[in-house]
Parts: sequence; C-alpha cells; structure tokens
Amino acid sequence: KDRTLKVTNLKKHFHIGKGQTLKAVNGVSFDVYKGETFGLVGESGCGKSTIGRTIMGLYDRSDGEVLFDGKNIHELDEKETFSFRKNMQMIFQDPYASLNPRSTVSEVISEPMEIHGLYRNKKERLERVYQLLEEVGLSRDHANRYPHEFSGGQRQRIGIARALALNPDFIIADEPISALDVSVQAQVVNLLQKLQEEKGLTYLFIAHDLSMVKHISDRIGVMYLGNLVELTESEQLYSNPLHPYTKALLSAIPIPDPDVEETRERMILQGELPSPIDPPSGCVFRTRCPFAMEACAQQIPKWQKVEDKHYVACHIYNDDIKDKRPIHGRAT
Ligand code: SF4
Ligand code: MG
Repeated sequence: KDRTLKVTNLKKHFHIGKGQTLKAVNGVSFDVYKGETFGLVGESGCGKSTIGRTIMGLYDRSDGEVLFDGKNIHELDEKETFSFRKNMQMIFQDPYASLNPRSTVSEVISEPMEIHGLYRNKKERLERVYQLLEEVGLSRDHANRYPHEFSGGQRQRIGIARALALNPDFIIADEPISALDVSVQAQVVNLLQKLQEEKGLTYLFIAHDLSMVKHISDRIGVMYLGNLVELTESEQLYSNPLHPYTKALLSAIPIPDPDVEETRERMILQGELPSPIDPPSGCVFRTRCPFAMEACAQQIPKWQKVEDKHYVACHIYNDDIKDKRPIHGRAT
C-alpha cells in the first residue's frame, strides 16, 4: 500500500506563560496509507485534536515532521501550500460552530471553491453545490437555507459537503459524530464510508471513544497524554489489546448483547488524567496503571513492535526490564 502521510516524532508544545509549557503532543510517529481510515483515539486533552491541526498546518510543529505525499507540510512554498490546502480538508466536531450562521448553505459550500478559483462561472458553481448536496444525502432545495434550520446530523452533512468541495484526497475528521445523537451517528459514519469508497478518500478519524472508531477504522492508534501508546489493525486491537490503557478503554465499552456472557477482565481506570504541563516521569500512564513497576517511573517505555503490525510502548513487553513486579501489590 502507498503511504500518503508520514508523521515522525511530532511534538507540539504551547508556551502558556510563567515559563510553563503544555506538552500537548510529545513525540508521536505514525503512517497513514492511501485509501485507509486511521483512527486516533484517546480521552479529551490527550492531544489528538492538536495532532489533527498540526497535520493540517494550522499549527506549526515544535519538533519532528509531517510529510504529506513526500512533502514536509511545514516547509511548503506558497504554490505548494495552495495545492496542499485543496488536498487535505477537515471536518469538525461541532458542525454548527464551524459553519457561518449568516451564510446560506450554498454560500458555505461555495466558499472554498471561490477561494481556490474553482468553477469561476456562478452557474457552474451552483451546479457543483447541488451535486455535493446530493452526494451527502441532502437536496438542492436546501441550498438557500441557513445552517440553523437544520438538525445536527444535517449540519454535519453540510460540513462534509464543504470539505468535499475541493475534491480532497485526505480528510481529517475531528470527532465528527461525538456531538450527534446515537441514532444519527451510524448514518454519518455510513455516509463517510460511502464517500470513501466512491472517491478513494483517506481518513484520519479522531475520536474519544473506541466503540466509535471500531467499525470505521482499518488501523487505530491509541493516545494518552500527548503520546501514542499502542497502534495496530482495528481487529487486532479489539481481540488482543496489549497496553494497559487500551485494555481499560476497551473494558469500558458495554457488551451490546445482554445474553452474551462478559468474559473480558474489567479494568476501571483509577485517578485523574495528569496535566500535560507536568506529566509523570517515565511512562505517562504510570499514575493510573495497575501494573506499574519500578522501571515505569524511571524510563520512558520504548515504542516497540510486539507482533506483525502491532506496536506498543509499555515496559511489560520489554525483555530488558527484569523486575516486573507491580509496585501496588508490594510491601513497602
Ligand atoms: Fe503501566 Fe509501566 Fe506499561 Fe506504563 S510502562 S503502561 S506504567 S506497565
Ligand atoms: Mg478534541
């Protein structure tokens, strides 16, 4: 498979005054292949949206690099930036906040085309708006109405039509269904999948909940406090999660069928998410990890391949660590 996005040791730190630094993204590496959906999952505040925005070029990076089709997106010249903006688009969590309430649907969808000088002829552009509305399951009759006249699910469809207006190859969907009713979520996911098949789109799908990305993602990366802690194929992640944090996230997903016996081990996360201003030493998950051992406070766990296409950052899987007795169960 062809790689389209290569993120290497990406860091995004925000200087927030008083000499303090918020390490929103602290050294993340992953690849995304053409035509796949790569899910990025973690609690709010883990840095996943910041990654999305940094990949879009909305933020400069503090360190590391983002290559899109082989080009460093933070070092593009003007012409390259213009074509990059066409090829990578974003869908946001709250479609209402991302749509200008004083613009008609037609204006909202046309705007990117105007900026990029596509379909200069007004009639052609309107035809394109109609076509896009139909592609996302709305109708041309909606073109002259305003965003507030629509339901949340319809507004997200408008946001998707706008994102598609420039014929992008790559879409970053930042929690596109989190704000929607459960009944509407599946419809929007189905629409995104249909559009992916029709147009050969690649998705970076950001979510805080593993159950949401399960069906849509080919591969999933799990984030915790600015770090990627596990990455593998979707099915593998569900059948054989390795990182204690992934296990905890998965055990929080209810089993849909009450007749199916619960066989998974329950793992409830203790404690609060630490602050990214002052993250724990060693493994960032150690303050909440039931398996934390002495090494976890001292060494940052290395990113290692544990089996085919399955990566994890946790000392449990590091053979160089000899004493793996958990601290919690130990007499002190
Ligand atoms: Fe838990 Fe240690 Fe693994 Fe971190 S490295 S997840 S603290 S066992
Ligand atoms: Mg977010």
